[in-house]
Amino acid sequence: MSDRRLWVNFRLRFVECLRLFTRLRRSALALLLLLGFSTAGAHAQRDARVADFLGITRCERGEAVTLLRPDVRDSALLAEVEAHEQVHRRQAAEFPSCDAFLASITTARRIIDIELPAYCAQWRLAVARGADSAVTRREYAWRIAAQSGAMENRLSVVQRFEGECP
Ligand SMILES: [Zn+2]
Repeated sequence: MSDRRLWVNFRLRFVECLRLFTRLRRSALALLLLLGFSTAGAHAQRDARVADFLGITRCERGEAVTLLRPDVRDSALLAEVEAHEQVHRRQAAEFPSCDAFLASITTARRIIDIELPAYCAQWRLAVARGADSAVTRREYAWRIAAQSGAMENRLSVVQRFEGECP
């Protein structure tokens, strides 16, 4: 496997905004990483694509800041990721500070609550440009489940996605 392929796979497994949670305790992050590895083989639905990691949002001096990968030029994909990360910036803005927002992310349920609207915004754009609506929704729901460390709940995440992101 080439370095590039490895890199893309790594990014896929840990989904684009995992770094949003880097302020979580080291143990929690390690757990997420382990889950990423353990679920990669069993639940991989397709090969990783560059599209799987295009942007991250993190706290910088109290502000939620999104970084988009500079080497990606596909404007449709960038728009999807921007829509996703914009939701996180809005969520963070509802707190006194970006760090307070991060500090509020302590459970799998909370991660799911945060990621659902972000992936919903991304899903709407993806579907608008021709992605299969049901397949994409399931893929995103499984990513959310993996990211939250709640893979056993992935079917309920799919159901929530359908209910909250019609
Ligand atoms: Zn996200």
